[in-house]
Amino acid sequence: MARVRLSRERVRGELVRKIEELSGQNLLACNQCGKCSAGCPAATVMDLLPNQVIRYAQFGLEQVLEAKSIWICASCQTCYVRCPHGVDLSRIMEALRVIALEQGDDHLRPQELDPDEVADMPQLAVIAGFRKYTMMGG
Ligand code: SF4
Ligand code: SF4
Repeated sequence: MARVRLSRERVRGELVRKIEELSGQNLLACNQCGKCSAGCPAATVMDLLPNQVIRYAQFGLEQVLEAKSIWICASCQTCYVRCPHGVDLSRIMEALRVIALEQGDDHLRPQELDPDEVADMPQLAVIAGFRKYTMMGG
């Protein structure tokens, strides 16, 4: 039987290439040990555990862009510290947010916020929120 030779790029696809380019991480460095998920302080409220997020990313599954987890991640880097392969998952989460924002609407719509509540919020938190959840930071 003739062997079919497929390049790494053709197999893994455009989404994988973009995640790796934006994050600077090698997705295949992850062997799904689960240490990131075991230590993540936000895992209990995520719909995909951190190791599942990277699994979806490894396969270039677009559904990962719809996961709540990418917005919940607090970039605390606990996962990075725990990872035996040095995968910085917070950078992968950030790359996924950037791609999701490029493809759709802002995750947070400033015009829908109550002005009185915004006035009571710490301004640094407001700016940080806009940078994370909207294209204003892009
Ligand atoms: S700790 Fe590292 S190698 Fe283990 S599942 Fe998480 S990202 Fe993958
Ligand atoms: S950086 Fe994100 S995914 Fe990693 S441990 Fe912190 S909250 Fe969890």
